[in-house]
Formats: sequence, structure tokens, C-alpha cells
Amino acid sequence: MAYAYDDQNVFAKILRGEISCDKVLETEHSLAFNDIAPQAPTHVLVIPKGPYVNYDHFAAEASEAEIVDFSRAVRQVIAKLGLEPGQGGMGYRLIANSGEAGVQEVPHMHMHILSGRRLGRMLPKAE
Ligand code: AMP
Repeated sequence: MAYAYDDQNVFAKILRGEISCDKVLETEHSLAFNDIAPQAPTHVLVIPKGPYVNYDHFAAEASEAEIVDFSRAVRQVIAKLGLEPGQGGMGYRLIANSGEAGVQEVPHMHMHILSGRRLGRMLPKAE
């Protein structure tokens, strides 16, 4: 299935510099910034710079260089914030909401990095 990318989404605007962000880290193919409405003491979003709608689109169509860069960028944020479990950090949770079931709001692939407190059970009860 081909994904249609909407280049008017808020993360596309951040990437074009039309909207500012609180940048945490930038690599060749990825950008990390603090979530504007944090749901934990640490709440960082990592996005690929390429036009991918969701995780499925990214994993299927991004180049190997983009995928490696993205995975390492997530890890670099975790290291920068001192969150590595077993290395003195308190650990974290990664979430990539994709599509309707995932209740994805921004249609540009992103990974949430959440930490700073015990995050509780993985999922709340169904709505
Ligand atoms: P999702 O529901 O997985 O699509 O998550 C989208 C996330 O983007 C939410 O946690 C929002 O708080 C966050 N968000 C929306 N606009 C911005 C923005 N301009 N800067 C930073 N984070 C944003």
C-alpha cells in the first residue's frame, strides 16, 4: 500500500523551520525534540527527516542509512539523558503510535521516549 504524506503536518513544519522546537539532538537523517505537552518528566520525540507517515511506512520504505540513523538517534537521546537501564539510568519506554488503533495524531513517523518516573502498566483499560 502506498502512503500519502501530508506535508502540512506540524512535524513537517518543524523540519522546514516554519515552527520552532526545543531541540534535544540532530543527526543527518533524524531530529529529536521535547514534546510540547509532556506526559512524563522526560518526553522526547524522535522523527526521521524523510516524509514517512508512520512506523510501517518508515520501516518499509526508508533507506538502510535512514533506519540505522534513526535507531542510533533514539539511543543517543537515551544516552544523552542518562536513561540507559543497567548503566545507572532509570530506563524508559518507547512508543510509536501508528494509525487509528494507535491513536496517532501527527501523521509524520515519530518515536516517543518517556521516562523520569515509573510509568505504570503499559496500557490503560480500553476506552
Ligand atoms: P501521537 O499521538 O503519537 O501522534 O503524538 C503526537 C505528539 O506530538 C503529542 O504527544 C503532542 O503533544 C506532540 N506535539 C504536537 N505538536 C507539537 C509541537 N509543535 N512540538 C512538540 N510536540 C508536539
